[in-house]
This record gives sequence, C-alpha cells and structure tokens, in this order.
Amino acid sequence: RDYEREINEDTSIHVVVRCRGRNQREVKENSGVVLSTPEGVNGKTVDLSMGPNALSNKTYAFDKVFSPAADQTRIFEDTVLPIVHEMLAGFNCTIFAYGQTGTGKTYTMSGDMTDTLGILSDDAGIIPRTLYSLFHKLEDTESTVKCSFIELYNEELRDLLSAEDNAKLKIFENEKKGHAATIVQGMEETYIDSASSGIKLLQLGSHKRQVAATKCNDLSSRSHTIFTITVLTNRTTDSGEEYVSSGKLNLVDLAGSENIGRSGAENKRATEAGLINKSLLTLGRVINALVDKGSHIPYRESKLTRLLQDSLGGRTKTCIIATVSPSRSNLEETISTLDYAFRAK
Ligand code: ADP
Ligand code: MG
Repeated sequence: RDYEREINEDTSIHVVVRCRGRNQREVKENSGVVLSTPEGVNGKTVDLSMGPNALSNKTYAFDKVFSPAADQTRIFEDTVLPIVHEMLAGFNCTIFAYGQTGTGKTYTMSGDMTDTLGILSDDAGIIPRTLYSLFHKLEDTESTVKCSFIELYNEELRDLLSAEDNAKLKIFENEKKGHAATIVQGMEETYIDSASSGIKLLQLGSHKRQVAATKCNDLSSRSHTIFTITVLTNRTTDSGEEYVSSGKLNLVDLAGSENIGRSGAENKRATEAGLINKSLLTLGRVINALVDKGSHIPYRESKLTRLLQDSLGGRTKTCIIATVSPSRSNLEETISTLDYAFRAK
C-alpha cells in the first residue's frame, strides 16, 4: 500500500514527523535501522522497510519529515515560528508532540531548560524557544502574557504551578455568547514579563512532575502535560477604536502512543482496565472528525479534548509533531504512530 497523496496547503492541521537517531540501547542490541528519510534533513516523505524485500516497503508523506540530523533550531524555525505568528495574529493554536515513549516528545517540547542570562542550550526545546521569540516580538507592543501548566493523568487534572503539592482541578462548561467554553476552576495563571520568568515556571512544573513520576512509575508515560501561553495585546482599528486581541498557544506533551492500544480499536475490556488512554484515543477521533469535516466532533468525550475545545477546529491552527525511533525493535509502534499521524492529515 502506498501512502502518498496530495497535501492540502490550506488545512489548519499540519502534521510533521521527527525521527531521532538510534539510542545507545538500540545500537547495543544491534537493532537494524528500518526507517529512512530519502529526501534528507528536511523532506516530506519517510520510508519504512517492513520486510526482506523492497516490495514490502511503505512510504508515508507528511507536511514535513525531519531526519535525525534536524536539530532543535530547525524544528523551531520550520514548524513553530509560523505558529507563533498566528498566535500573535489572534489565533488559538496548539502544538502536540505525539509518539511512543522514548522517541523524543519531551526533548522536542521542553528539551534542555537551562537559561543562562538569556542564553539557551542547543538542546532547548520548543517551549523555551517560543518564550524568547515571543518576548522579542512583543518588545514594542503593549501586551500582557500569562502561562498555565497542567497535567492530565487518568482523566484527573493537576496544576503543576500550584503551591500545593497535589492540587486537583475541576473543569466545567460555561455557555457564553453561544460558545461553549471550558473553565478550569482554580487553575494558576501566572503573568510573566520576560521569557526567563516563563522558563522558570516550566522548570518548576517539570520538576514537580518529575517528583511525582518517581513515586508512580507509569505517570510519565501515561500523562499529558499542557503548557499554555496566552497573549493579550492592545490594538487600534483603522478607525481609531481600541480593542484587545488575544491569542493562545497550547504546547502539549502527550502520553506515550503505546497507551492507545493496538490499532486504536475500541476494546471495552482494555478501556475498563485503564489500559487505553481515553484522552489520547478521543483526541485522535476529534482530529479525524475535523479533517473529515464531520458534523459531530466528540470533544466532550475526554478531558483533554474538552480542555482544548476552543483551540481545535474553527479558526485555529494545529501542528502535530509525531516522534519516531528508526529501529527495527520499535517498528510496530512506529507504524501505529505514522498511521495515527497520517489519518490526521
Ligand atoms: P519521550 O518524552 O517521548 O518519552 P524523551 O524526550 O524523554 O522521550 O527522549 C528519550 C531520550 O532520548 C532522552 O534522553 C532524550 O534526550 C533523547 N532524545 C530524544 N530525541 C532526541 C533527538 N532528536 N536528539 C537527541 N536526543 C534525543
Ligand atoms: Mg516524555
């Protein structure tokens, strides 16, 4: 089966793939490389070799495909920077990192969070780079910026910026001007006046998550984190009227895609045993329904999609970064990640 098809440039959902190099374990196990990016660092296709002969290869096409040679700067400039501009233009935007545990979701979203007097590490991920780029662009504008950082685990929400240790959050719907908006009761929204203060919040929340993950070993692979940046800017219309434009960027480090269950199929027993991540599964359905322009978008079926409802569909921009390993030992998960990502186009 060949997976190439035309890419629609107008779509508001962009799907890119990032492939890391083999890690030490994969090299030591002598696990062969089954994934290649024939167009080099910055192409649009990825080839999987599925068996002993070339006929059993599979080619997938995406908006962009990054080979292991693509560094953090390249990912930021090619996929994130355009979205930062969309946010400043007043769009609600979301960037997801989707993939098997160990393929680089957290490296891509957060990476090295060291901030030495405004100098970031080469390994800095999307969130620190976004904060610097944003404040640079806002230099001469009257605007306010706020951040929140929450975690979703087993359909329970925790505030990673709260002073409390285990601040559980509740969400409810608020019907406002005919638009359903999801309200997160009691969530910390911290105003920041510089990139470095935003990075401090990221460090604080990540540390909190790390501490909790050492107590509960599947938390880091089964939980989602959402770092949200909201920008409010004072603007004036051509006729001199003042108004506030608001844009939002959700940066989402998703649970490991292995938690979606084989082929994403509905398996009642697995769902009840908590083996399938409801939010991850529902996110896939919501995105598919948006892509297919379905009349019913099942936002309400999971907390993640309820939380992101105002940023998915309609006048919004979404980018999914699917992260994969190149090794034979992960081939099955890689296929399921690429299939999920491909269905989102
Ligand atoms: P995930 O969050 O998907 O479970 P991580 O981001 O924790 O995976 O990545 C697993 C390990 O691989 C980390 O040590 C990370 O630094 C490293 N890694 C992942 N992707 C890359 C990459 N593109 N370049 C260099 N190191 C990477
Ligand atoms: Mg991670």
